[in-house]
Amino acid sequence: MSNELIDLCQEMISIPSLNPQDRQNFQTPYGEEQMVHFVSDWCKTHSLDAEIQPVANQRNNVIVSAPGQDGSKTLLLCAHTDTVGTDGMTIDPFKPILQDNKLYGRGSCDTKASLACMLLAFHHRVNAGPLPYNLMLLASCGEEHNMIGAKTFAQNHGHTISAAIFGEPTELKTIVCHKGSLRLKVATHGKSVHSSQPDAGRNAIYTMAKEIQKIEAFSHQRQKETDHPLLGHETLAITMMDGGKQLNIIPNQCQAYIEWRYLPKHNANDCREALSKVLESTTEINILNYFSPMQTNPDHSMVKQCRQSTDKICHHQKVEGVSYATDASAFDELDFPKIILGPGNIAQAHTKDEFIKLDQLKKGLDVYKTYLANDWGI
Ligand SMILES: [Zn+2]
Repeated sequence: MSNELIDLCQEMISIPSLNPQDRQNFQTPYGEEQMVHFVSDWCKTHSLDAEIQPVANQRNNVIVSAPGQDGSKTLLLCAHTDTVGTDGMTIDPFKPILQDNKLYGRGSCDTKASLACMLLAFHHRVNAGPLPYNLMLLASCGEEHNMIGAKTFAQNHGHTISAAIFGEPTELKTIVCHKGSLRLKVATHGKSVHSSQPDAGRNAIYTMAKEIQKIEAFSHQRQKETDHPLLGHETLAITMMDGGKQLNIIPNQCQAYIEWRYLPKHNANDCREALSKVLESTTEINILNYFSPMQTNPDHSMVKQCRQSTDKICHHQKVEGVSYATDASAFDELDFPKIILGPGNIAQAHTKDEFIKLDQLKKGLDVYKTYLANDWGI
């Protein structure tokens, strides 16, 4: 197995790049800055054209590009440079260890393995001869929190992209869809009075109790009505609640929070709208945040070529859906085929002893190389 690939992956694991979440000023191990410089230096050393794209304070993307014979289309390869935190880890997160044909360390699986494979495949393809179309690689920051890197890239360059592959641990299955995720705050209002005279007020918790029954019935209804061949049913549930301020005051407000995993044909607003129809008009529903779903036609020629590549290297042609969101959500308003495909198993992502199997790592590079050797089907 090419030491170049293992070395590259090891080097990236040894660079801490924890997502800083909402921290304003931070330093190592938080932030992607060292990774950004590492990737851009690696590209320069390998004579690839890399540019640093500013995203926010101390936050940057790296964009690598190579021109194609036909400049009217561009294929994007995308993998994020940040990782989740290290709390509770049982291994040294930044000291990559090779053991039992596995490479251990934070980010090994999610998603420095994909990034290493994509960089090497990019370099290999550029040196193999003229490209059919433009090829671009985005090493994005911030995927593990709010996808600011991919969102910034999509705003500035999204219109130039014709198709994209997102490197995440899919065990080299071709993923063509994922659910969207929506977080809502539902609030009921009442009138506060002293608890010795409850009839003089209006109890927001009692109002919410009735709304909760409707939300539960609505969730069962949606589950029955929604079905997707690869993603199954929609789900939604109240996951948190609060209301009232003091034991001897009739509460004038109550809040319930909903986590909703919706299917590709819907969007956050129409979900909110559907819920509002079953609740009282005085009940407030606010969208806290959402990540859009992704859906690519499984018969698209790009999907076929990805499947042919996994068939050749891994002897399977699996097309599946997943339940987690990715950087692909940032491109939801851009109508081009999007695929998630990368080495490693999602079960090892974010874990206390994260690892990537060397076999997956090697096959990851081979799958990308095989796909890029064709005309990409875009
Ligand atoms: Zn990831």
